[in-house]
Amino acid sequence: MKNRLLKLMTKNQDIRFYYADVTDISKESCFPEMKTDAAKELYQKIFTICCLMRGFLEQEDQRIKIFVQYERKECYVNCNIDGEGRVHCLFSEELASFDGDISSLTGTGAYLSLTKISRMEGKVTGTIALSSHSFEQCLSDYYRQSEQTETIFIVYVNSGRVQGCMIQPLPFALREAVKAVENSVAFYRETIGEALLSFCDVVEEYTLSTDCKCRKEMFAGALLSLETEELRKSAENSGEELVCGICGKKYLFTAKEIETIIKVKEQYE
Ligand SMILES: [Zn+2]
Repeated sequence: MKNRLLKLMTKNQDIRFYYADVTDISKESCFPEMKTDAAKELYQKIFTICCLMRGFLEQEDQRIKIFVQYERKECYVNCNIDGEGRVHCLFSEELASFDGDISSLTGTGAYLSLTKISRMEGKVTGTIALSSHSFEQCLSDYYRQSEQTETIFIVYVNSGRVQGCMIQPLPFALREAVKAVENSVAFYRETIGEALLSFCDVVEEYTLSTDCKCRKEMFAGALLSLETEELRKSAENSGEELVCGICGKKYLFTAKEIETIIKVKEQYE
């Protein structure tokens, strides 16, 4: 089940599950860049939930962007999930070195905004105040308020193994059945993947990856749109470092490369 998201359904088709073991893929994410235990814990949680949310994307051209602003302005998260299974979570530098109680991050002005993007429906954004201390509870609130669907997110981290499960009872599911399922998920938490397979059928499988579509040439295009004067300044300052807003990869343009870009630019002016 490496780097895969499973969509499962109970035998009597009343509750839908998404399950992923993200132990391996999280090592390829920005997780290793987290500097404190608190940041690591928060990152694992958010990254796992983003992997689960890939299940909401049915078309390849669909995307979900999540932006989380915590009470302190410098603490924020940018997440991108696309219909081909690419998942990225980018913490601000301040948040990556946050050392404290995670619950103290929320407070006045903290919010979560979720944008769904698709070719057919365009861009739809919803925002919710981050009132609850837990990220998963916040997202559950979001889905209840904005989509009128019940979605329960669960993340388990145990001896280095990171697993996530998303439970979606269908509208006709009985409360007792939902409760029973929640209890067994909690009971089998350490082997949740195996437990789910015992009372559910796998309906679909999706791949997850941390690849990004960014390439250096894309950033060269961005540099071309800058004023020549600005480019000259960065050429004098030994170049320019640009960072991909999705995966966080850094691209360095040397002074020499910038000068070439200026020449190209001048040809068209
Ligand atoms: Zn990138």
